[in-house]
Amino acid sequence: MRKTADAVIIGGGALGSSILYHLTTKGLRNVVLLEKGELCSGGTGDSAAIVRQHYSNEVSILLVKKSVEIFHHFPEIFDGAQVFHNTGWFFLVPPEAGAVFQENMARLQRLGVRTWEITPQEAAADIPGLNTAGIGRVAFEPDSGYAEPYGMVSAFVAKAKAQGAEVLTYTPARNIRLEQGRISTVVTDQGEISTPIVVNAAGPWGKEVGRWVGLDLPLEISREQEIMVEPPADMPPLRRTVSNMVDRTYFRPEAGGLILVGVGHPKENEAADPNNYRRGANQEFVEDTARRIAHRIPALERGKVIKSWAGLYDITPDWNMLLGKSDEVEGLYLSVGGSGHSFKLAPAMGLCLAELIVDGKASTVDITPLRPSRFSDNAALRSTYGGNRA
Ligand SMILES: Cc1cc2nc3c(=O)[nH]c(=O)nc-3n(C[C@H](O)[C@H](O)[C@H](O)COP(=O)(O)OP(=O)(O)OC[C@H]3O[C@@H](n4cnc5c(N)ncnc54)[C@H](O)[C@@H]3O)c2cc1C
Repeated sequence: MRKTADAVIIGGGALGSSILYHLTTKGLRNVVLLEKGELCSGGTGDSAAIVRQHYSNEVSILLVKKSVEIFHHFPEIFDGAQVFHNTGWFFLVPPEAGAVFQENMARLQRLGVRTWEITPQEAAADIPGLNTAGIGRVAFEPDSGYAEPYGMVSAFVAKAKAQGAEVLTYTPARNIRLEQGRISTVVTDQGEISTPIVVNAAGPWGKEVGRWVGLDLPLEISREQEIMVEPPADMPPLRRTVSNMVDRTYFRPEAGGLILVGVGHPKENEAADPNNYRRGANQEFVEDTARRIAHRIPALERGKVIKSWAGLYDITPDWNMLLGKSDEVEGLYLSVGGSGHSFKLAPAMGLCLAELIVDGKASTVDITPLRPSRFSDNAALRSTYGGNRA
């Protein structure tokens, strides 16, 4: 293990690995990433990893647009790694959300996202057997889809290592030491690393890492469940990724003809301890989710739930990440609070945070709206649809 580094990243999920790759690409090569378990063992590994661009605030739209661009060029940048599935994305919206839908579509189009409205019948032509009852409007994004979390993280890490980074798995950071209020050392069981910069990318454990330097980060942890369904053999394969506001589900194809299904927002948070939570899904959730998806695609009444699991969201008060420099601790950067939707933002967020660290300013997208101090500045972000997502 290196004894000194230009920067230490705590956390080997979507955010930590992306920041690592982008830092080394920008020339900061002596960077160490510490991961307490395997890469992807936090929220990233449990993610549905849906990549859609339908956000309602400008900073998220610009970031996701950049991420989609990176996903589309992934094999060229990362030695042939194919991690993105460009299935296209449908957003099924109930009639009562029509006005907000209209407003958001106009904003997305103005900011250059390729999206347009289609009819429920056109959606059903692409998803044979789709029950169109209750669907008021449908948005289509041809460039969206989903990605493979482990593949993405591995590709970031492999390239970063080739560019000089050190990546240590099963090596938890245990503490951070300050000297005169500045970052000076990261403590691990294998020794200490002297560094002027630490990035807290510890996801649901980010609050714990913040406490080491006296911060009380505004993060709530919620347990989130998903199921995997095997469709009946006579059902045509699902080809599109779908967020369905009508029944509050999201679903997408998975390798082997399977379908991943989760339940969308708004919904209650389920407080969880990241060091001790139930990894399996609850029976009640499995049954309810299977019922919801079978209502929308009736052939799935004959489907089989073959797997279910629970992961963690780390949620900020406005459901957007804390991304930027800490005002309290010199040399500390925060990249926590993914709030259940930041997998897709990770490629662009990593780039922007690396720009901030190396150049003093993020030039690809201005990430000041995500600055950790925004809550005390009374500048929390707002989202639409009355839910708790951006
Ligand atoms: C069920 C579920 C579904 C989701 N669906 C979507 C979706 O469809 N689309 C989307 O965009 N987003 C989705 N998300 C959200 C998205 O997956 C997360 O926002 C994102 O992956 C978070 O990445 P991260 O790197 O911040 O955190 P994590 O992936 O949690 O990574 C943090 C890492 O830090 C490590 N760590 C913690 N403490 C220490 C320490 N002391 N020392 C060393 N390492 C440490 C952990 O082991 C972990 O690997 C979903 C999340 C869940 C749980």
